[in-house]
Amino acid sequence: MELPTPPLLHTHSAMKSTSSILLIKLFILQCSLSLLCVAVAQQDFDFFYFVQQWPGSYCDTKASCCYPTTGKPATDFGIHGLWPNYKDGSYPSNCDPDSHFNRSQVSDLISRMQRSWPTLACPRGDGSLFWSHEWEKHGTCSESVLDQHHYFKTALNLKETLGLLPILQSAGINPDGGSYSLSRIRGAIKDALGFTPWIECNVDASGNSQLYQVYVCIDNQGSNTIECPVLPTGSKCASTVQFPSF
Ligand code: AMP
Ligand code: AMP
Repeated sequence: MELPTPPLLHTHSAMKSTSSILLIKLFILQCSLSLLCVAVAQQDFDFFYFVQQWPGSYCDTKASCCYPTTGKPATDFGIHGLWPNYKDGSYPSNCDPDSHFNRSQVSDLISRMQRSWPTLACPRGDGSLFWSHEWEKHGTCSESVLDQHHYFKTALNLKETLGLLPILQSAGINPDGGSYSLSRIRGAIKDALGFTPWIECNVDASGNSQLYQVYVCIDNQGSNTIECPVLPTGSKCASTVQFPSF
């Protein structure tokens, strides 16, 4: 024979089940919110532009340049940046005002950064300002994929894998102040990397069009070179461009 539930106990268990239902609802809400966050995070950006810069073309302009406090950079392309981008050509920037460049997070990479990511801005500096600018403007927009250490390491590794100077030199394109056809430069890089790069030019103090920066597209994990979903809108080049010495 079943005993009637005492009224007090009944109320207590009713309260218990109401609160468990509430907890379950809260749990479901939290799950769907975090799923939403994951979905949003995955749509942060579509791909990266990895941008390398010829120091000779930065320095021989009217504005000139200043060598870093660590000395004249190597005669090699330097990193400008690793820039998250959207397929429609627009790009996010300054995505996390609370995230600042922190030398201690990249202390093991500093000597590689000094070698491969040299600042050329005036007044001369040790690179921190340039790296902070790149991290804060661009790096914070891919933070869901690459934390600060990973971001700088990825760029440094890309520079080593995609070494442009040896590619150009083996195609007979040398930083000797000579003129080269843009299609020859583009073709040499395409043949070596398998993907068409975007070449950006600037002008030297006498107004000659010259090879300034090379853009290569990287997937949104920072892992593989890809065909560019959209080409950048950087300054156009003449059909023949100079490759200044440095
Ligand atoms: P970004 O905003 O990432 O496109 O970078 C553009 C800014 O970086 C401009 O203010 C440039 O003058 C500066 N910049 C470009 N190359 C260098 C370099 N090698 N060293 C220091 N600043 C640079
Ligand atoms: P600069 O020519 O060095 O003054 O750079 C032009 C500015 O535009 C820099 O601040 C870049 O960060 C920005 N920029 C231009 N095009 C792109 C792009 N496609 N993706 C990311 N940043 C870009």
